[in-house]
Amino acid sequence: MASTLDRPVAADEKLVLERIEQLLAEHPPKGADPREFLGAQFDLGLAWVWFPEGEGGLGLSPGLQKLINERMSEAGAPEPFRRNPIGYGMGAPTVMSHGSEAQKKRYLRPLFTAEEVWCQLFSEPGAGSDVASLSTRAVRDGDEWIINGQKVWTTLAHLARWGMLVARTDPEQPKHKGLTYFVVDMTQPGVEVRPLRQMTGEAEFNEVYFTDARIPDKERLGEVGEGWRVSLTTLMNERVSIGGSIAPRGSGPIGEAVKIWKKREDKDPVLRDRLIDAWIDAEVLRLTNIRASENRKKGTPGPEGSIGKIISADLNKHIWSLCLDLMGAEGTLYGSYAMVRPETAMAADSVWKAFLRARANSIEGGTSEIMRNILGERVLGLPGDVRTDKELPWSQVPRS
Ligand SMILES: Cc1cc2nc3c(=O)[nH]c(=O)nc-3n(C[C@H](O)[C@H](O)[C@H](O)COP(=O)(O)OP(=O)(O)OC[C@H]3O[C@@H](n4cnc5c(N)ncnc54)[C@H](O)[C@@H]3O)c2cc1C
Repeated sequence: MASTLDRPVAADEKLVLERIEQLLAEHPPKGADPREFLGAQFDLGLAWVWFPEGEGGLGLSPGLQKLINERMSEAGAPEPFRRNPIGYGMGAPTVMSHGSEAQKKRYLRPLFTAEEVWCQLFSEPGAGSDVASLSTRAVRDGDEWIINGQKVWTTLAHLARWGMLVARTDPEQPKHKGLTYFVVDMTQPGVEVRPLRQMTGEAEFNEVYFTDARIPDKERLGEVGEGWRVSLTTLMNERVSIGGSIAPRGSGPIGEAVKIWKKREDKDPVLRDRLIDAWIDAEVLRLTNIRASENRKKGTPGPEGSIGKIISADLNKHIWSLCLDLMGAEGTLYGSYAMVRPETAMAADSVWKAFLRARANSIEGGTSEIMRNILGERVLGLPGDVRTDKELPWSQVPRS
């Protein structure tokens, strides 16, 4: 007999299954307009099932999202992460945690359908790992803020309608305390987006220049001076979004490696050993990510976000290199370095491109060295990094 604890869960699962069936029956995914499909998914509460009703969810356990995602993937439904990776992976949880009701109503649905793509405006030429030292200024002017400064490495800024911007509002406070978080309209005249070309040939990211750009105060996320606290929500979700995916066993990069191995006529035993080692590592990471995701559902924040981020960066690089080795001479070819403005980020549409793109994995979303600092300090309790500027007003910190 089901326990009292089991009953509501079973009822919740039934509701979710009914909604999935309704969605797939009313909007067959094959040939559907992705925006229409995703809009219907949002309206039925299947976007983020743990969000409140009317905001893309049903107020149920986040564990049920796995069921939804699996059914969507089996049915060949459009993938919101692929279409709007920064909005879906980081923007939505940040808006949900810190936004007003009006902001949630305004942003979440078009974010999920990718009618409005989002970008993340954190890094600057002088502030990457130490992002809290950033210089872009926001100065209050009545009901608006005036923004001046430069951001860099801004993925998908060329497609973005909205940017998550952290700017300095009080230079006389220590660096973490003088920051404020805004949502900025990327289509206004004071915002200039210039492409930055990567080693793949693509320009997936950009430099962004703000010259007297304006943000209404109602587009601020969180309180004035609370920008660092809001940023942490974005950054924690970024790590999970980049390194915490739970693909089916044997899929992703290791799946590609196995496919290439099967096509090889010469079954070299040394390459076979390397392939099996990599397969085991990929499976261990997958299981670690499953454990991390279960911990998050119980509300126990674990260090696994940083572990998954470090290990997936190293493993991606390793497996894509192995793929080229398995391909032999063919692995040295590359289609074209022609400059392309891609429609999405982190696309691995060829093995060669995936090999080149994977080099960025240990930098983007926080470098592997910074992840090691986090694990060393917060998990192992090792002595902290040297931080001489922590308590100094930002305006008094020497910088080049
Ligand atoms: C593909 C890609 C996409 C990106 N997309 C975005 C985006 O959309 N939005 C955005 O805001 N940013 C984005 N970034 C920027 C990314 O977050 C930064 O590159 C990253 O945080 C590192 O900053 P940095 O490049 O300034 O390097 P730096 O911080 O200058 O670091 C240089 C080197 O020093 C090491 N280092 C620095 N500090 C320490 C320390 N305390 N202890 C040990 N080692 C240290 C670093 O690990 C690194 O090896 C992207 C980067 C890449 C590669």
